[in-house]
Amino acid sequence: MEKRDYYDVLGLSRGASDEEIKKIYRKLAMKYHPDRNPGKKEAEEKFKEAAEAYEVLRDPEKRRLYDQFGHEGLKGTGFRGFSGFEDIFSTFGDIFEDFFGLGTRRSRTAARRGADLRYDIQLSFAEAAFGKETEIEIPKAFQCDRCEGTGSKPGTYPVTCPGCQGKGQTIRSQGFFSISTACPHCNGEGKIITNPCVDCRGTGKVTKKKKVSAKIPGGVEDGSRLRLRGEGEEGERGGASGDLYVVLHVERHPLFDREGDDIICQIPISFTQAALGTEIDIPTLNGTKKIHVPRGTQSGHTFRLKGEGTHHLRGHGRGDQIVQVILKTPTKLTKKQEELLREFARINGEETILKKGFWK
Ligand SMILES: [Zn+2]
Ligand SMILES: [Zn+2]
Repeated sequence: MEKRDYYDVLGLSRGASDEEIKKIYRKLAMKYHPDRNPGKKEAEEKFKEAAEAYEVLRDPEKRRLYDQFGHEGLKGTGFRGFSGFEDIFSTFGDIFEDFFGLGTRRSRTAARRGADLRYDIQLSFAEAAFGKETEIEIPKAFQCDRCEGTGSKPGTYPVTCPGCQGKGQTIRSQGFFSISTACPHCNGEGKIITNPCVDCRGTGKVTKKKKVSAKIPGGVEDGSRLRLRGEGEEGERGGASGDLYVVLHVERHPLFDREGDDIICQIPISFTQAALGTEIDIPTLNGTKKIHVPRGTQSGHTFRLKGEGTHHLRGHGRGDQIVQVILKTPTKLTKKQEELLREFARINGEETILKKGFWK
């Protein structure tokens, strides 16, 4: 294949500046990067072609020779182009790190979103059912006033890190790869604080308590999380604040259980109440309500008290209260009660097997 003109490859004029060359090359390398074009031969060729053009035009000496003599001019320089991707990555590693966001060099100046925070709240059963407005105090990190967040004692300035000459990272070559890691001397910051601010001890941040009001809607359940947008840690360098997650813990109730927005309870009734029918008082979250138990009610039968459940988390209205009646068998009988029950059994035609002393 005939070698194309390097300026044509990058789509630039002969007078292009170093900055323009770099910018265009980045754009093309992104576009034809093998990770984005898996298995595409054409993209691969373009990727290599752009890398070769960049390799020549970024070097003033090679560029001069190329401008003067074209491809022929490079023959005496030992320039061979690239053998493969690894070759390109190890030569231009820093460019790829930069735009794939891998390099720590960028993170020093890039905006960073604040961390999310978590706060746990204990709610009573009724508070979870009806909701609650509450004010909570969260310890949050704020920019230090004394040093305006720089971490240095006012009037002093950090020095350039001698470990990385201010780059914030150290690059180590290993075979085809170049591995960059955050500089251990400055933690990737590129600068070292020699006179730390007394208020924040050089961190640039101080922890203060912040009051946040939280509106907990009715109908939340144990383990529900509430997100308060922007109430987390402040972002860095203009980054957005994190969120605050309020985790809710709901206490158990001695009488009530929850099933979604319905409240479940079990009420014991006696054999005679079930057989003859009765009215009973049912405890609810809003005082007692009467229910009518008709004659001949079976154990386990359920009654529904409309609108006595918890608030619907989404939408209006409330769930129901489900009342299950459980027949309670008497365990201690007086002589009189026993006589009457035996009489009842006899009239009912039940087996005399129940007769006292049968097993003796
Ligand atoms: Zn350093
Ligand atoms: Zn400070």
